[in-house]
Formats: sequence, C-alpha cells, structure tokens
Amino acid sequence: MSTGWDLRTRVLRIPYRDPFRIARDSHGAGAAMSTMVVELRSDRLPGLVGLGEGYPDAYYGETLATMPIVMEALLDAVDPAALDTSSPGAARAALARVGTAFDATIRGHGAAKCALDIALHDLAGRATGVPVHRLLGLPAEIPPTDFTLGLDEPAVVAERARRAGRFPALKIKVGGPADLATLEAVRGVYGGPIRVDANTGWTPGSAAALLPALVRLGVELIEQPFPPRRYDWMRDLQAASPIPIVADESAVLVEDLDALVGIVDGVNVKLAKCGGVGAAARMLARARELGFRTFLGCMEETSVGIAASAAVASLAEWVDLDGCLLLADDPFTGLELGDDCRWRLSDRPGLGVELRAAG
Ligand SMILES: [Mg+2]
Repeated sequence: MSTGWDLRTRVLRIPYRDPFRIARDSHGAGAAMSTMVVELRSDRLPGLVGLGEGYPDAYYGETLATMPIVMEALLDAVDPAALDTSSPGAARAALARVGTAFDATIRGHGAAKCALDIALHDLAGRATGVPVHRLLGLPAEIPPTDFTLGLDEPAVVAERARRAGRFPALKIKVGGPADLATLEAVRGVYGGPIRVDANTGWTPGSAAALLPALVRLGVELIEQPFPPRRYDWMRDLQAASPIPIVADESAVLVEDLDALVGIVDGVNVKLAKCGGVGAAARMLARARELGFRTFLGCMEETSVGIAASAAVASLAEWVDLDGCLLLADDPFTGLELGDDCRWRLSDRPGLGVELRAAG
C-alpha cells in the first residue's frame, strides 16, 4: 500500500430477517450474509475517516480472502496526494482518475474496488463538506426502492409479500420448482408491480411455458433468465416477450454492455459488480447512451453500501436498493427510508452514515 494510506478492514456477518435463497447456490445463501466494511484514512486528511463496503460474490470471482489482497494492490497504485479535495469539482475529477487507475491495476474485482471507491467518495465528501451525490453533480430525488423476497414455499413467500405491502414494487426470486404457484400466491395478496429474478435458473423451455402467466400476472420485468453468455436464448425470449428482460449476471462491467445491445431491453448495474460509486455512475450513463432501460441493484449490504448506491440512483429508472432492509441488524445509522420508500439522501458531508455507538 502506498504510504500515507491507512486501511482497516472488517468482516461483518449479519443474520437475515428472513431466510434468503436465490437460484444460484454459489451465491452463499441461508441464514446470514458476510460482507466487508472498510475504514480508509489519508495522512493528508487528518481526523477524517471514509467508510466503504464491498460484498464479495464467489460467482464473480471474489471472496473475503481475495478482497484485502486486491485492495492493497489498488491503494499501491494511488498516491494519497492524488485525492485532490481543494474543491468539490477537483475532488470529482480526482475520484474519476482514481477509478481509471483501479481499472488499469486489475480487471474485475468489483467488490474490492467498490469498498475502496465508496470509502474514497465518503472521505472526499467529508473533506469538501458536501454529500456524495452532490459531489457527483447528481440530484437528491431518486425513484423508490422495491423489496426483494427470496425463494421459498409459495405460502411463505406470499406471507412475506403481504408484510411488504407498503413497497411500490416487489422483486420475487424465481428459478425454483414452484415459480408459477409462488407468483400466483403473491399476486393474491399484493396489487403492485412484480419484478421476477431467475438468477440464471431458467431454460428456454421453462421460460416459454411461464411467459403467458407472467404477462397475465402483470410482471413488470424479468431479470437474468438464463446463464450469462446465452445471448441467443435471451434474444429469442426478449423477441417473444412484451415484458422487458433485464441482464444482471450478463452485465457486470461497463464493457459488457455493447454485447447486450439488441439482445435485452434493460441492464442491472450494481456497485459491487462494477467497482463502486464512480464506476456505477459511468456504467449507468453508458447504458442510457446505448438505449437500455436502467436498473440499479445491490447485494446483501449494510447501509454503507446502500447509501453509496442511493447517491447514483437518480440515474436509474428502476431501483432495487433493499440490501440493508433484508438484515436483522444494520450496524450503521444515518440512512433513512421515507414513507414513500425512497431513500432520503443526506445533506451531511460524504455518505452521512456512521457506525452506531455501542451500548
Ligand atoms: Mg439479479
């Protein structure tokens, strides 16, 4: 690590409110999630701490063991003097250059980049006295978040849907044996838009068999029905479907977008896949340029990761930032969900999130 940085990492293992399972079992599911939270200090900014978070998904090639090694290499590539905080505009430009340096250091490793990139944005915001969204030149008005329900028995999912009735949309994990029964049961208790996410778990046959029912049930979008490189299957389903298909596992990095043009209508951008606040803002802007409908998603994260995601949520049409709401206990305070299910972007410098005082 370049001298002048002080990076501290901490693994948080936090139970879910409800058991959480998706169609890909490599994702690491069950009763609790594990995420990595970092504190970053620079000797050029005495007294300030930047908070960051990255959720490592083995599916994308990262674990809690790889992240610290990669973060060391990333900080080696950046001198603390490069984080110019003489003005918000200077900080914004410096953060973009740091993102470029990270990508030149190692390809992928979005969660490691994400944890540092969020911490650098928080640090720069605190140093310049402005919230992260304003540092990026983005407005505080963002779409409401949906709420996600994991795979389970149809009656169990329906009961959770009933409890989540205040949310303006629900995202239902599918790709199991009871998809149709689950969606029928949810529709029985919930009248709003339903988004489905198969996490690569369907085949062309299962998707074709379900499609008429998805249309009848008013499904708003279908996320990642097939394995990431099955562009042929996705193109054929999108051609047959009045419902937009949204690529998630196929759309990890900004350079994945070109191959999806003409294949699917939408893309799901996540900070932990693409490498943080700056990378997500660039990927969302590029997706819009290419004509995609835009979805901003998240992993299972505390409100550090969700506050950072909310800072760029104005760039997305659909917002799924519920990671910290799925947890039994969020160790951070400062991020608040409005009655309208929109995250309130703080006026405080940086992310506006702090570790809850013990006690
Ligand atoms: Mg997804």
